[in-house]
Amino acid sequence: KTFKDLGLIPQLCEACDALGYKAPTAIQLESIPLALQNRDLIGLAETGSGKTAAFALPILQALMDKPQPFFGLVLAPTRELAYQISEAFEALGSVISVRTVVLVGGMDMVSQSIAIGKRPHIIVATPGRLLDHLENTKGFSLRTLKYLVMDEADRLLDMDFGPLITKILKVLPRERRTFLFSATMSSKVEGLQRASLSNPLRVSV
Ligand code: AMP
Repeated sequence: KTFKDLGLIPQLCEACDALGYKAPTAIQLESIPLALQNRDLIGLAETGSGKTAAFALPILQALMDKPQPFFGLVLAPTRELAYQISEAFEALGSVISVRTVVLVGGMDMVSQSIAIGKRPHIIVATPGRLLDHLENTKGFSLRTLKYLVMDEADRLLDMDFGPLITKILKVLPRERRTFLFSATMSSKVEGLQRASLSNPLRVSV
């Protein structure tokens, strides 16, 4: 199967081609058609499986349909992962000049606030710094968010981000799609799943 067979529009298929992706990976084969059908997803997949594109491509396709600032939020456990995710969105979404911002600790708050002021489409964040901005950056709100991704959910919870994620979920709209990716399932991940996803489908590789 090709990216086109999964239901992706030509611009995004071309972006995959330009990045040298010859065919979808297993997690992409399973996730992308379901995500394009507007379902919440739990993806069991490790780093290296192609999971970033598995969630980024359907979000970019929805964004191209109705472009809007603060469209998608990706929560990641570490700075490094957050930057990698943002780079993947920019590479795959270059055709629509997708704007992303990375909000992580250890970096200057003010320059992050200025980047938020430019009204990016996609926010990639670690939970603590995102909450800092939601509380302190004027005019920043996620009330119109359409997509939430929790990437490496098992690591997010191992790092005790659970209470912060609960706070973040409270300020997100209920009418949104949510994708949760995790390398492992645990009772903590299941708890987060119940708190954040509606009627999800499970995909695993
Ligand atoms: P990830 O699991 O999202 O961290 O992706 C691991 C690596 O695989 C990244 O360098 C991606 O650019 C690359 N990748 C993602 N999808 C594909 C694909 N369909 N074919 C080849 N490489 C891919």
